[in-house]
Amino acid sequence: MTAAFWFYSSNNNSWYLSSDLQEALTLNNSPSSAELISAIPAINRFSVLRQFSKLFLGKSKNGVLETTLKSKNNETLQVKTEVKRICDRNGEIKIEGTVDLVKSPSSFLQIPSVAKIVYENTSEGILVTDANGFILSVNAGFSRITGYSYEEVIGKRPSILKSNKQDQGFYQDLWHSIIRDGAWTGTLWNRKKDGTLFASFQNISQIPLNNGPVKYVSVFSDITSDHNYKQKLKQLAYHDQLTGLKNRAYLRDKVNSQIEKNKSLQFNLLFIDLDNYKPINDNYGHAYGDEILKLVATRLESTLDDEFEIARFGGDEFIVYIPNFNDCELRNYITKIKAAMLIPFEYKNIKHQLSASIGVSAYPRDGKNFDELLVASDLAMYFAKSTKQRSCNYIEDMGYSASRQARLAKDFVPGLLSGEFSLVYQPKINTSNRLIVGVEALCRWQHPEFGAVSPQEFITIADQYSLHSELTEWVVNKACTDFRQISRIAPTLDLAINISGSQLKSDRLVELIKTVCEVSGVHTSQLELEITENELISDVDKSIRVLTKLRDMGVRIAIDDFGKGYSSFYYLRTLPINALKLDKACLQFDENDDETALNILNAVVNLTSSMNLALVIEGVENEHHLSLVEQVGANTVQGFYFSKPLPIEIIYQQIAINHNKKNQLRQTK
Ligand code: C2E
Ligand code: MG
Ligand code: MG
Repeated sequence: MTAAFWFYSSNNNSWYLSSDLQEALTLNNSPSSAELISAIPAINRFSVLRQFSKLFLGKSKNGVLETTLKSKNNETLQVKTEVKRICDRNGEIKIEGTVDLVKSPSSFLQIPSVAKIVYENTSEGILVTDANGFILSVNAGFSRITGYSYEEVIGKRPSILKSNKQDQGFYQDLWHSIIRDGAWTGTLWNRKKDGTLFASFQNISQIPLNNGPVKYVSVFSDITSDHNYKQKLKQLAYHDQLTGLKNRAYLRDKVNSQIEKNKSLQFNLLFIDLDNYKPINDNYGHAYGDEILKLVATRLESTLDDEFEIARFGGDEFIVYIPNFNDCELRNYITKIKAAMLIPFEYKNIKHQLSASIGVSAYPRDGKNFDELLVASDLAMYFAKSTKQRSCNYIEDMGYSASRQARLAKDFVPGLLSGEFSLVYQPKINTSNRLIVGVEALCRWQHPEFGAVSPQEFITIADQYSLHSELTEWVVNKACTDFRQISRIAPTLDLAINISGSQLKSDRLVELIKTVCEVSGVHTSQLELEITENELISDVDKSIRVLTKLRDMGVRIAIDDFGKGYSSFYYLRTLPINALKLDKACLQFDENDDETALNILNAVVNLTSSMNLALVIEGVENEHHLSLVEQVGANTVQGFYFSKPLPIEIIYQQIAINHNKKNQLRQTK
C-alpha cells in the first residue's frame, strides 16, 4: 500500500498527480480531464463525477472519494482518496486529495494503512465474503480462534464453521437483519477445525464498496468461557439447586416482564404448600427430605404441561404460573395438582402420604405485580390450610376480613421476632390497703401496617392458626426478664401470665417455665399462670397432668375470665388450681341492679373460700364497683379504677412507690 496525492485547479482546468500516481496510472504529472476519466472504469464514472462536481460546485467541502482505476499493467487499483475543496480570494477553486493505493486488486480490500494494521493484529477474528458468500479473506485472529489457516478457507463458505446448534430459522432471521439493517450482531455457536464448539460473539456487516459488488465482513470473538460463566450464573440465579425447577427470581422476572409487555394479560399464580412434609424431615433427616422434594418437583412437572411455569419458592413451597384459562379449566388444573400430590411418594421403600394446600391469586384482580400476587396467593394458601379447605382463592373465597386474618397470621411470628410485640402490666390490688400485690402481663401488638391489633383479634388468630406456642414462649421469656427487675425491689410480688389452654396439651410449657425461671432468676412460686378456661376442654386428662407438674414446681394456676363463656364447675373440681379470676362481665350490671351483682359476687366468694381458692375480681372500673366488691368481702381486684395496664418502666415506678408505702405502713403498725 502506498500514499500519493493529486490536485485540481479551476484556474486553467489543470490536474496534478504525484509521482506514485503517475506511475501507477501511466500518466504524466498533468493529465487532461479526459485522460483521467478514461482511467476510471465506466461503471464507476458516473458516481465519481457526481462527487467531484459536488465538490467543485461547493455543495460539499470535503469527503472521501472511492473508485477503482486501471493501472498500467491493466490491474484494477482500488483507490480511496480523501478530498478537500479550497477556494481562494481570487475565486480559484482547488480540489486536492491524498490517496491510499493498494495494489492487490483481487484481495478483498484496499484499506487505509492504519485499518490494515488493526485488521491484521486484532485479537478478533475477521472474515470477509463476497456477495455470494465465498470467503475472500480472513485475518490472523480468525486462524487463531478457529484453527483454519488462510489458505484453507479462501474460496470456501463460512458454513465450514457451522455447529448445527442453530436451526435454519435462526440463519433466516440473521440474514433478514443484514438485508434490512445492513448488519447483525449476536451470539452463535460455531465449530473449530478440531471439532470443538465455541460461542462466537459476532457482528456481520454488509459493505457496499463504491457501488461495486457487495461484501460481508464478519468480526467475531470467542466468548465461550464468558458464555459458560454467564450460563452458569444464569442457571444459579434462575434455578433451584435442589430440584432443578425454576426459582422465585425467575418467576418474578418472567411475570413482571410479561405484565410490562401486555397490561391486559390475565393469569393465575398458585402457591402450593405441602401438608405433612415436616414430619418427614424431622423423622428421616434433611437429606432424605430433600429426595422427597425432588420427587414432588418431578410429579408437578409431569402433571402440568410446558406452558405452565413451576418454581420452587423454598422449603416445601412451590409456585405455579398458570396462563390465561377460564375458571373451569383453572379448577380442573388445581384438582389435578391436588390429586397428584395425594399419590404417595416413595423413597427407599418407604411410602409417604402428602397433600397440598393451594392458594390462588389472579392478575390483575389481586395484585399489579408479581410480589403482590405472591402475597395474595400465599395468604390464600394460609387460609386454605387453616380452614382445611386444601385450596382457596384470594378475595373470592376469603373476603376482606379473612384476608386480614390470614395476613396477621402470616406476620405473627415475624412480628414476635422483630419487636412488634410488647408487654404491659396491670397491677392487682389489695383493696384493704390499696397496695399492689402482683402484676398481670398483657400482650400488645403494633403491626407496621395495621397499627395496634387488639389482643382479642390476635389471640383468636393464635387459636385458629396454632400460634400459641410461639406467643407463650415469647411472653414467658419477656415477662420473666422484666420481672427480675421488679422483684429486686418487691420480692414478694406475683407475676401473672396468660396462657392459652391449648398449651396444656404437652409438657413443652413445663420445660419452658423451668428453663426461663432458671435463666431469669424468677422463682416459680412468684408465677401465676392464668388459663382461659374454654380452651381446656379439648384434653382434660392431659391438661390435669401438665397443670399438676406445674403446681408441683410451685407455680400457681388461676382460671381466668370465670363467669364468661364456657365456665364450668367441672373444671373447678377436677383441675389442680389455686385461684379464680372473676370476669369483668360480672360487675357490669345496671347500677340499679346491685342485688344481682351482689348475689353473684357472694356466690363466687363462698364458692372460692369453700374450695380454698384465691379470688381476683376483674374489671373494677369505679367507686361503685369497688363498694360492691368490698361489700362481699373480696379483697383482690384489678381494674381501670386503680390502674390501666402500664409499660414496664411506669409499673416499675409504681411498684417502687408501693414498696415505700408498704414500709411506711409496717412502721406505723
Ligand atoms: P384477661 O387476661 O382477662 O385480661 C384482662 C383484660 O381486661 C385486659 O384486656 C385488660 O386491659 C382489661 N381490663 C383490665 N381492667 C379493666 C377494666 O376495669 N375494665 C375493662 N373494661 N377492661 C379491663 P386486654 O389487655 O385487651 O386483654 C384481653 C385478653 O387477651 C386478656 O384477658 C387475655 O385473655 C388475652 N391476653 C392478653 N395478653 C395475653 C397473652 O400474653 N397471652 C394470652 N394467651 N392471652 C393474652
Ligand atoms: Mg388474664
Ligand atoms: Mg380475665
